[in-house]
Amino acid sequence: MGNNYLNEQVTGLKGIGEKTAKLFEKCGVKTVGDLLTYYPRGYDGFEAPLPACDLKSGMVNACKLTIIGSIVKRRVRNLSIISFEAADQTGKVRITYFNAPYLANSLKSGTTHIFRGLVQKKGSAFTIDQPKMYKIEEYAALIGRLLPRYPLVKGLTNNAVTKAVEQAFLHVGKLEEFIPEEILKRLSLIEYFEAVKGIHFPQNEEQLEKARRRLAYNEFLLFVINLRLLKKNQEEIKNSYPMIEVADVKRLLEKLPYKLTKAQENAWKDIQNDLSGENVMNRLIQGDVGSGKTILALLALLTAAGNGYQGALMAPTEVLAAQHYESFKELIDKYNITTLKPVLLTGALSAKDKKEAQRQIKEGEVNCIIGTNALIQSKVEYKNLALVITDEQHRFGVRQREALAGKGLNTHVLAMSATPIPRTLAIILYGDLHISIINELPAGRVPIKNCVVGTDYRNTAYKFIKDQVEQGRQAYVICPMVEEGELDGVTNVTDYTQTLREVLPPSITVGMLHGKMKPAQKDEIMEAFARRDIDVLVSTTVIEVGINVPNATVMMIENSERFGLSQLHQLRGRVGRGKHQSYCIFINTSESDEAKQRLSIMNKTNDGFVIAEEDLQQRGPGDLFGVRQSGELNFRVGDIYHDADLVKESAMDADRILNEDPNLEFPQHRVLKDTLATKSANFVDFATL
Ligand code: ADP
Ligand code: MG
Repeated sequence: MGNNYLNEQVTGLKGIGEKTAKLFEKCGVKTVGDLLTYYPRGYDGFEAPLPACDLKSGMVNACKLTIIGSIVKRRVRNLSIISFEAADQTGKVRITYFNAPYLANSLKSGTTHIFRGLVQKKGSAFTIDQPKMYKIEEYAALIGRLLPRYPLVKGLTNNAVTKAVEQAFLHVGKLEEFIPEEILKRLSLIEYFEAVKGIHFPQNEEQLEKARRRLAYNEFLLFVINLRLLKKNQEEIKNSYPMIEVADVKRLLEKLPYKLTKAQENAWKDIQNDLSGENVMNRLIQGDVGSGKTILALLALLTAAGNGYQGALMAPTEVLAAQHYESFKELIDKYNITTLKPVLLTGALSAKDKKEAQRQIKEGEVNCIIGTNALIQSKVEYKNLALVITDEQHRFGVRQREALAGKGLNTHVLAMSATPIPRTLAIILYGDLHISIINELPAGRVPIKNCVVGTDYRNTAYKFIKDQVEQGRQAYVICPMVEEGELDGVTNVTDYTQTLREVLPPSITVGMLHGKMKPAQKDEIMEAFARRDIDVLVSTTVIEVGINVPNATVMMIENSERFGLSQLHQLRGRVGRGKHQSYCIFINTSESDEAKQRLSIMNKTNDGFVIAEEDLQQRGPGDLFGVRQSGELNFRVGDIYHDADLVKESAMDADRILNEDPNLEFPQHRVLKDTLATKSANFVDFATL
């Protein structure tokens, strides 16, 4: 049955002792199967060295060069700098190393090495900073290969992971195929085992892309099958919490200083029909950032309260939950809404406050519970929960629904997402939900001003940021990577923070934020930014679902060609939330016309739905490294835009398979069924990622 080896502990592999196993555990790897799905986050490719005259600025190149002239060592503040010139017959390159005194001995005038790094043109001269240096025969052996680069934790080396994965392959022999051959043939997909091998140890780029596509298809197919099964269960669920329109809603709508937009009104009608209808609500509200989804959540919660029920609002982070709580309290006070009694329940509360909140929930003293996802998973007991709303979570996953059902609750579910996706994909990816779209912003917004520029604009951008901060505003700077070396030639948060601290005056505080930080640390930084203790926040895309800071007016996105258009739009939505004019600066570090053309859309429109359609048309770069992903709708390997064809195919295949064999009982679906039950199929529940 199945591949039992996959469930064995990694300690069974040669060369993995207790100590290494502990490190692997930190990466979520316990079994041999986990190890095989611990995909690289990048690859080191080694191309043949170029002559110096053919080096290309902005690219990572290798070049065989002889050191000429003297090796200059300097200190600037606490930075030690080594620099020298190196040349071949065709040209010269200036090479610089920072804080690498250990290199001083191996660098001798007259010696020849291969230098590989990001080439830049300064004036008329080429420079390479911090290149990797190789012996000539050492480099020759690497040419043409792609070596995996794994996500690591402290103490675990890339070499150790590579060796462990090699051992795992020896151990398992072969992985069973679980997709019918007919499908593989039709879509020209490679076999599962080949794909897993190919993602770890690709022979070349072409094989890597084949492996990626096959694994992407896996993700989509398993995802859609899970959705279909979920939907089948839901359709039979009757509405056990029927609600009628309540007076407070009407009163609030009359008192608000604005009228709902037409799109908001329609969405609200949909919600009301669901709440009073025959079956339980499963609805997604899709509306761009700032389209006014929160008020709809409040109206729904108010309706539940007026009907004598409790409702819960869940946000992805504690900070967002607290924000909702505060804004609800403000509205309640301002408009004297006595029926709604909110409570905030997050991990940040003291044990005593938490206990008190739990008591109030259990006894029904409160009817609007605001918190994080933990609200569902934790031991909270509700008096009469009838409605669950999730904000900025994209979808309410299989597991959370199971948790609710486990408590005997088939509540109404309303998901609110700010990531517009094209209709053709939405129908598939949200196949289990009814969708309302808010494709209209409230009138009177100041539109964000955009510019797409090259790297030569950086200094101007820094000056612009400085001016804005001096006027009391704040700025975000986004880099794709966390630290140096993850991807060649791509900016990273760690170094960029350093750079900005150097170029901006000391009065400006620069902070940094990335996904490798602990959640508490991330929250702390976001709160510091919200308090204006940080003026400029350098971050990876983790701020996408982050905090609302209306005072931030500049969004600068580095390496913007590496992101999908929809994701750029999402990032841009972090500014333009206050009364001040906001700006978005897209730095395009690529020289390709295609990238320029693609990015120019960002200049032309601020409409997320238009951009999503455009993203689908243009597809952009496929990327394994999680740089180009679409908001919260992240698969591990698949990219719903780049692999849109596979999304569509997988949906048709899922329907065909389930039509023939609704419970997956046929022998040819055995491995598929087993796979659906495994952990690796559960990534589909990405709300919990
Ligand atoms: P999002 O959809 O991103 O969650 P919010 O619900 O936070 O957006 O709304 C953004 C802002 O717009 C809030 O300050 C809200 O009060 C305001 N707003 C919501 N609806 C309208 C409307 N119809 N007219 C004017 N302002 C509105
Ligand atoms: Mg919102």
